[in-house]
Amino acid sequence: MHTLATDPAQRHYPPSWYAASAQLLPPFTPLQGDIKTDVCVIGGGYTGLSTALHLRKKGYDVVVLDAERVGWGASGRNGGHVGTGQRADQTSIEKWVGLEAAKGLWQLSLEAVRRVCDLIDEYQIDCELGSGNLHFAAKPSHAGGLQDELEHLETVYGYEQLSYVSPNKISELSSARGFHGALLDNGCRHLHPLKYALGLARAAQEAGIKIFEGTHGRPSSDGSTGEVITQYGRVKARHVVMACNAYLGKVMPRLAGNIMPINNFVIATEPLPSQLLQRINRDNLSMSDTLFVINYWKLSEDGRLIFGGGENYSSRFPRDIAAFVRPHMLKIYPELEWTAIEFGWGGAVGITLNRMPDFGRIGDHLWYAQGFSGHGVPTATMAGHLLAQAIDGDSSGFDLMASIPTHRFPGGTLLRWPGLVAGMLFYSLRDKFGH
Ligand SMILES: Cc1cc2nc3c(=O)[nH]c(=O)nc-3n(C[C@H](O)[C@H](O)[C@H](O)COP(=O)(O)OP(=O)(O)OC[C@H]3O[C@@H](n4cnc5c(N)ncnc54)[C@H](O)[C@@H]3O)c2cc1C
Repeated sequence: MHTLATDPAQRHYPPSWYAASAQLLPPFTPLQGDIKTDVCVIGGGYTGLSTALHLRKKGYDVVVLDAERVGWGASGRNGGHVGTGQRADQTSIEKWVGLEAAKGLWQLSLEAVRRVCDLIDEYQIDCELGSGNLHFAAKPSHAGGLQDELEHLETVYGYEQLSYVSPNKISELSSARGFHGALLDNGCRHLHPLKYALGLARAAQEAGIKIFEGTHGRPSSDGSTGEVITQYGRVKARHVVMACNAYLGKVMPRLAGNIMPINNFVIATEPLPSQLLQRINRDNLSMSDTLFVINYWKLSEDGRLIFGGGENYSSRFPRDIAAFVRPHMLKIYPELEWTAIEFGWGGAVGITLNRMPDFGRIGDHLWYAQGFSGHGVPTATMAGHLLAQAIDGDSSGFDLMASIPTHRFPGGTLLRWPGLVAGMLFYSLRDKFGH
């Protein structure tokens, strides 16, 4: 029995400041019966919606299925940072794929940020787009790393949007405590993630893409046909795109073993007085630090601090997310001791072992892109463009992403947890006690 699918009104976005502040779309009805299309996209986050939109522009007939609602997954819950670069640093990427390919991947990352902005512009998506990111050195030893990174990106990649902020200058930009320098990247952007996802969905609908919510899709696992089975019907397609990322569940163990879903948490404060806002983030930048379990934050349009910090590796969220995240925020902004936390939520991040996304093709009909490792606002958007290009016959960008060596988690889907948890705990202890 699938009671969920027959009653769209019962499907809700998880409570978050994003869901409270976005204008939600009327629910799309579940798929009933059998239909035919060129491409069936499974998953209605940035990857799926961007794939669908880019395919539609090329004249393809496209169907999008989401088991819940569009933007219900990480795309509607994240920190909203639109960062330059890949999730892994360029020096590591150079070692994995060589300098030329690393340069190609760097250019793709810049194009990814541009593509987010272009889509926002083209479809007039009102999603609080802002500019600039300040990345703080959380340990004295990290400050040198940031300076080296700046020099490397300037000299090898010709990237000129970076400047180093020395410890004594930080206070001009932010009252954030405990940092040892920072890198300002004017090429980064930031936005309201759910408004962005819903804007893409609205554009998709207006472009004639059929969207079905409450519709759980299961493709053929070896990609030998383009048929997708759902609770109440089937889609017959020439191509199927898996865009489920950390919410893939048990549908395709073959893909699930390449990524690990980990839970990450975000809080939103009450609206802050303007003087305080000016003090904690003078230029309305997105901000983050160099810890392994990264802290990241930005301001909302209505003057709240949206702060992400802390993660867990279990199947459950902490009972009180606000209490879980608040100490991370207070360590950086002790002056917020008396500030109320009005929202707390969590989401699953799909990480890969080397933090580079996992792109690939199975059989003649099945494509996938996943494992954006906390960098999916630009990269998943870009993935959609590359998937669409590849399906349309030009796979150069897709192949470049797919050429990055990825590894399955040891133990596959069943036994990956103990090793991961031990590894993650080791690094989070290093955050606490290392220099
Ligand atoms: C708390 C948090 C903070 C983050 N912060 C940032 C950040 O600041 N910057 C950044 O770049 N990235 C960030 N990320 C990562 C980013 O949000 C993701 O990489 C990105 O949203 C992935 O998009 P997606 O479309 O691939 O997946 P999702 O948005 O997760 O969408 C997957 C969709 O697939 C659907 N689905 C799953 N299985 C099925 C099925 N069988 N049939 C039909 N539908 C199915 C789900 O319902 C879901 O809607 C963060 C993630 C989290 C959780």
